[in-house]
Amino acid sequence: MHVVVNAAMSADGKLSSRRREQIAISGEADFDRVDRLRADSDAVVVGVGTVLADDPHLIVKDEILREKRRDNDRPANPARVVVDSSGRTPTDAAILDDAATTYVCLSEAASVERRAALADRAELVTAGDERVDLLRAFATLQEQGLEQVMVEGGGELIFSLFDAGLVDELRVFIGPKIIGGRDAPTLADGEGFVTEFPSLDLESVDRLDDGVVLTWCVADR
Ligand code: NAP
Repeated sequence: MHVVVNAAMSADGKLSSRRREQIAISGEADFDRVDRLRADSDAVVVGVGTVLADDPHLIVKDEILREKRRDNDRPANPARVVVDSSGRTPTDAAILDDAATTYVCLSEAASVERRAALADRAELVTAGDERVDLLRAFATLQEQGLEQVMVEGGGELIFSLFDAGLVDELRVFIGPKIIGGRDAPTLADGEGFVTEFPSLDLESVDRLDDGVVLTWCVADR
């Protein structure tokens, strides 16, 4: 499995404001880049915090890219994955519509009621006692044939994926805005590293819209 984390952040490293509302950080050229990356992926993953904040659909927007996928005997859209320990994903979330297969990764803490509500609209994967065990959940996704995986946030999930050693590549658009706020989500939140820090090798720097895309590979992978 190859895991690419993709995000857009402000010049001061924030993914959104302290209100956790979606903010336009990038422009049209970056949306197209993200769409191509989605189209190259078998699955797009988000945390439930992102589902609750943004209600993302996570489909490929460009019909030509969807057509190319069909021509290659792939579904028009990549699978969608929500990491959601207790099953908080609303049943009317856009990510649960029938545009693509959706996996909801739960922990044992998810109630029977939430499982029943979600099972009509998603494939359920259970891994971990209280929180989703990402290593086990991703192993199950790989068994389902999901090899090229793109992660679209948010900061809590991205931190945990680095912590679990699951990230191969980081692509980040840095846009021309200052968002600020000590409680605003950043690229990697969670508890933070204190002794050993994942390190990255810079692969490329590309100017795009009014910002820059940095592509990093995780060192020693
Ligand atoms: P998140 O990372 O999307 O989701 C975090 C939630 O996932 C946790 O609170 C937890 O909820 C669940 N989870 C289950 N197992 C986990 C594990 N092992 N590790 C980590 N999380 C686990 O939420 P977020 O950090 O609050 O980010 C949402 C914010 O980011 C929003 O403001 C959104 O607009 C922004 N965002 C920005 C971008 C961008 O590119 N600029 C992209 C995406 C999101 P449970 O305990 O209930 O399971």
